[in-house]
Amino acid sequence: MLEAKLVAKSDARQSTIVHLSEQVAIGGEAIVIIGGPCTVENLSQMEDVAQSLQTAAVQAIRGGVYKPRTSPYAFQGMGLEGLEILDTIRQRYQMPVVTEVMAISQIEEICAYADMLQIGSRNMQNFDLLKAVGQANKPVLLKRGLAATIEEFVMAAEYIVSHGNSQVVLCERGIRSFDPYTRNVLDLGAVVALKQITHLPVVVDPSHAAGKRELIADLSRGAIACGADGLIIECHPHPEKSVSDARQALSLGAMVNLVQSIKPVAEAVGRKVYEPQRQLAKAA
Ligand code: PEP
Ligand code: MN
Repeated sequence: MLEAKLVAKSDARQSTIVHLSEQVAIGGEAIVIIGGPCTVENLSQMEDVAQSLQTAAVQAIRGGVYKPRTSPYAFQGMGLEGLEILDTIRQRYQMPVVTEVMAISQIEEICAYADMLQIGSRNMQNFDLLKAVGQANKPVLLKRGLAATIEEFVMAAEYIVSHGNSQVVLCERGIRSFDPYTRNVLDLGAVVALKQITHLPVVVDPSHAAGKRELIADLSRGAIACGADGLIIECHPHPEKSVSDARQALSLGAMVNLVQSIKPVAEAVGRKVYEPQRQLAKAA
């Protein structure tokens, strides 16, 4: 392993807590669950998502507004308009929001509207972008590259931390393999290894790993059993109508059920799932 001076664990108990808001922190005793659609599509979609998730033990909302799509002809995201929707939701529901930053030029704008910057798989080794989010004043969710080794992943985190931002969460989201049956292969071995070698929190994205909604609940429970500090899961009010990643989107009801099913697994491995303490907000 190359020298990860800053993110390597120096003793077994060392762990970093990453703060998304005053109430929500990843890396402590409580499992943090982030839910929401692949892509922000309109305000009413995000209202539906927040209305459902605020009743469950979901602490943060996701939604992409700058989307890394395989085809240049596919919907590329709502951009600033989508950020304004995320801002409305985070204020109305008092839930932090996570969204992807694809370019250095987007960082300032996204920092004004979101609580956590996601670096997508395709950008895990975009070193200039890593250096730039290293200078941002927001926590970073760093997704593992499509075919990145654990060492490359750890060193990508080292880039961010070495540029001044210690608030980094690692996200295992599946790696490329030969078998198209699952979109990617969820590497739970990496989750265990990353928890052993770094002090950073590790979350699992079973949605992009599986690519199929019917696999997500079991993978989520497996991830928590392996020591993950949280989950990021895609869900949508009308999964089949999702503009991106429809096949892996859970319905909001399935998402709420999944979250409930995490609790006994979390408790079995000495973790908690925080029940929502928030005042429920009404849709506008
Ligand atoms: C996403 O979170 O919607 C996404 C594009 O993820 P990844 O970068 O892991 O493919
Ligand atoms: Mn997606």
